[in-house]
Amino acid sequence: MARYTGAVCRICRREGKKLFLKGERCYTGKCAVTRRASVPGQHGKSRKKVSDYGVQLRSKQTCRRYYGVLESQMEKYFDMAERSAGMTGENLLRILESRLDNVVYRIGFASSRAEARQLVRHNHFTLNGHKGNIPSILLKAGDVVAVADKSKTSDKIKSVIEANSSRPVPKWLDVNAEKMEARIVELPNREDIDLDVEEHYIVEFYSR
Ligand code: SF4
Repeated sequence: MARYTGAVCRICRREGKKLFLKGERCYTGKCAVTRRASVPGQHGKSRKKVSDYGVQLRSKQTCRRYYGVLESQMEKYFDMAERSAGMTGENLLRILESRLDNVVYRIGFASSRAEARQLVRHNHFTLNGHKGNIPSILLKAGDVVAVADKSKTSDKIKSVIEANSSRPVPKWLDVNAEKMEARIVELPNREDIDLDVEEHYIVEFYSR
């Protein structure tokens, strides 16, 4: 399945919640969900009744779109989550949170996950001192993500970090702003993840 390239605010309106896909604009009154919360399309305002399957599908889509992953990747992560000890839904969210692009976004080194993915691909970061240019790589406790030496003087990187410096960083990540790096203290628990979704619906969707 191809990656969606249309207007991203439509995605948030489709899911009926802010998914923070557009960077700074998401935190302003210009956000499309704040201004026009209805589902896009001709019948958006009149759609009301949602089946059980619809609820499960929307939960899965919300999660997939929030992290910007393809359906095939979601299925792979669900398999991993099912095979791990503990609650499958929570495991799935933890796996998604541990992606390198998500961590770069969470530590405020990118304005959105899409921007984080682009910066990672363009070799602006290192992982444990080595090249870290694969956005989907899964991190573990103790891993260190840093701005690559050659990018530390980049105006683009400096302005992105400056613009996101006031965004709260989750407690499972320890940022050293001076060194432009962050360490994974531990992988997050469910209460550390601010995604507004009931993950048991996602488990029900994939268990049909
Ligand atoms: Fe979603 Fe951000 Fe657009 Fe608001 S501004 S609708 S949160 S992408």
